[in-house]
Amino acid sequence: MKSVLILLAIFFIVLALKKALEAKRARMSGEVSAPRDTVRNVRGDSEEMVLDTVCGTYVPISSALRSSEGGRSLFFCSEECRAKFMAGRR
Ligand SMILES: [Zn+2]
Repeated sequence: MKSVLILLAIFFIVLALKKALEAKRARMSGEVSAPRDTVRNVRGDSEEMVLDTVCGTYVPISSALRSSEGGRSLFFCSEECRAKFMAGRR
C-alpha cells in the first residue's frame, strides 16, 4: 500500500516537471517566432493597420500607441489599453 503511494507521488512529480518544462519551451519558442504580423515600416498608399492585443481592435499605425516589449513592438488603441496590458504583465 505504501509503495503505491510513493509511486503515485513520483508520478505526479514527473507530471509537474513535464508541464513546467513544456511551459518554458512554449514561452521560449513564442519569443523567437513572435508574430510580426502587420508591423512593417513601409508607408504605402494605404495606412498600415496594427492589432491592439488588449481589446482586439485594429488601429492605424500612425495613431496607435507604441510600446516595445522584449525587443518587439506592441500597439495599443489608447492609453487605457496600454495601462491594462502593463497591469496584466506584472
Ligand atoms: Zn484597445
